Amino acid sequence: MEAATFAEPRELLAEGRKILSKSHTPALDAEILLAHALGISREKLLLNAPSRMGDSAVQLFKNFLERRKKSEPVAYITGKKDFYESTFRVNGSVLIPRPETELLVETVLDMFADEPMRLLDVGAGSGCIPISLALERPRWRITAVDISSYALETAMENGKMLDAANVEFIQSDFFDSVEGRFDVIVSNPPYIDERERDFIMPDVRDYEPPEALFAENGGLGAIEKLLEESPRYLNPGGAFLCEIGAGQKEAVRGMIDSRIWKTVSFLDDLAGHPRLLIAGLK
Ligand code: GLN
Repeated sequence: MEAATFAEPRELLAEGRKILSKSHTPALDAEILLAHALGISREKLLLNAPSRMGDSAVQLFKNFLERRKKSEPVAYITGKKDFYESTFRVNGSVLIPRPETELLVETVLDMFADEPMRLLDVGAGSGCIPISLALERPRWRITAVDISSYALETAMENGKMLDAANVEFIQSDFFDSVEGRFDVIVSNPPYIDERERDFIMPDVRDYEPPEALFAENGGLGAIEKLLEESPRYLNPGGAFLCEIGAGQKEAVRGMIDSRIWKTVSFLDDLAGHPRLLIAGLK
């Protein structure tokens, strides 16, 4: 590739699309990466692109294309991902926030107003869930835990960057370092069956943190542990909301002890897959 032939953003985009033809979204990927190389938004690139690009931006874009071609996720290349109402910093130590997880955030916001209460997020990753909630509900006291100190560092950086004052971050393996009781516990736990490791997209398998993806017991291990232990950390009548895998609804329903939980329901995501468990404690 010679820089001179690529100096026009329009041509660079066309070349990028070709190079990324194996991606599910080559055009979108190329646009985001070119905008990132230019230090402008994708909207600006599409509506009002500079007519020519300097060599260093061209080189940067080529480097991004090479990385993407090797399946590195776009969000790790740009270091950011939009989720709910904010843009979060991401890196290889945190799961990239998924749009289906916005269902959990929206449901919690629909269920509870901005009145003083305590909420716990188990497995905070980038912090996308607790921070999104904190920004909408400043009167809540939110605790976010993660087993990974690297993930927590990223979550704390996001909390600071987005000015979420009412979230505290604690390193904890599930509930091990959690104290007290909460009105609501939420989690987007790992729920992919370990045995599916060889069958999932390389973008995910080779780049995202395995401890954020895989669980034992056919992918149900973490959900089971949360269902078992969360009652000890919930106030009477408290709620537990947990994201689940698309095919896990019936297995999860089977794990629910009706002597402990009073109400159980499931919500579908926008693709029509059962995605969210909502359980109310007696
Ligand atoms: N809570 C974070 C998210 O939803 C991380 C979840 C995880 O690592 N499994 O993106």
